[in-house]
Amino acid sequence: MKGVCILGATGSIGVNTLDVAARHPEKYKIVALSANSQVDRLVEQCEQFHPAYAVIADETAVDDLAGKLKSKKLSTTVLSGVKGLEKIASLPEVDFVMAAIVGAAGLKPTLAAARAGKRILLANKEALVMSGQIFMDEVKKNNAELLPIDSEHNAIFQCMPDDYEKGLAEMGITKILLTGSGGPFRTKDKSELESVTPDQACAHPNWSMGRKISVDSATMMNKGLEIIEACWLFNTTPDHIQVVVHPQSVIHSMVQYSDGSVLAQLGQPDMRTPIAHCLSWPERIESGVEKLDLFDVAKLEFEKPDYERFPCLRLAEEAIKKGGTAPAILNAANEVAVASFLDEELKFTDIAFIVEQTLNNVASREAVSLNEILEDDLAAREQARKLIEVRVKQH
Ligand code: NAD
Ligand code: MG
Repeated sequence: MKGVCILGATGSIGVNTLDVAARHPEKYKIVALSANSQVDRLVEQCEQFHPAYAVIADETAVDDLAGKLKSKKLSTTVLSGVKGLEKIASLPEVDFVMAAIVGAAGLKPTLAAARAGKRILLANKEALVMSGQIFMDEVKKNNAELLPIDSEHNAIFQCMPDDYEKGLAEMGITKILLTGSGGPFRTKDKSELESVTPDQACAHPNWSMGRKISVDSATMMNKGLEIIEACWLFNTTPDHIQVVVHPQSVIHSMVQYSDGSVLAQLGQPDMRTPIAHCLSWPERIESGVEKLDLFDVAKLEFEKPDYERFPCLRLAEEAIKKGGTAPAILNAANEVAVASFLDEELKFTDIAFIVEQTLNNVASREAVSLNEILEDDLAAREQARKLIEVRVKQH
């Protein structure tokens, strides 16, 4: 029996994780759940899974949560804030931590899981983008296990030899082929992109996800963040990663070897597959995902990514090449710009503009400590907000 903690239980990945775990009550015990502020959803999950702990990140909602759990006669211990999240990620009775908080908010609790030597099921790619070196060092130092939930990285992991950590060249790997659907605006003209709405941006053709990552998919910043994520997970550089636009989202990514072989992982676009894979690895369990019917799929297409319509790809590649705190600055500016777009302040095409201007205005440094990363994250957020204020006035 493995004890499971889910950071971000009320989100899209969190709910899918509970769905898979509920199919195997003899294998997984839900020990702790967390949410940002969705008290009612968290209470429902506590009623169903009886975790020992429930954490609400928003401190002002803690009494509400405690009151509602008590009225349901649940004995769940209630904690709050980042401290509460760090605590549940390091509990001795927790074996697996699903890191499914969206954005930079997931960094500290995910790092706590690494320091406590847990198996980390990493969905929260922003944590790795911000603090790649520190994060990987903590994983190694504390004998934690880092398994990728992001469907592409999970696919790459499945196509890698067991000892890929020795180095890709050593393993005869020449390239990682990182696939992406191209998002909802793959075929839209540059001129049409200016006026798209948040709802259009969130209507992903193949995947159902939270709103922030949906917008990232539409700008292709998601693919950019995934390039950075792949660099850290597989110890490589952007020069060894080729983004391949694949509108059907059936191939989830591929690995090319020196003998000409290309290994791919295929499946339905359903996150329960990578979640089940990481929960049960190295074994396999039933995930509830419908089996792939290749006759239904019929056709697989591939296109080159368009760096002109989707400048976020270039910005992310430049940031990881620059290194240090540049990826953290990119990520912070993107989070602020996406939130502003979702609030209907900023235009869709302004997201890349704000990210680029923030990168130009906030000097990055060679990251040596978590504090410096967090300082630059904060500086980037402030700068991005100022730039947005000016930009919105210009409209
Ligand atoms: P979501 O918005 O549906 O859920 C986010 C979760 O994080 C919620 O439980 C929310 O309560 C919690 N949260 C939000 N802000 C918080 C804060 N400040 N402090 C603490 N908790 C907070 O997002 P999602 O789609 O489930 O994505 C979660 C993460 O997984 C993201 O990093 C995303 O990039 C990654 N991911 C998601 C998918 C997907 O299919 N949804 C695929 C690959 C990777
Ligand atoms: Mg992905």
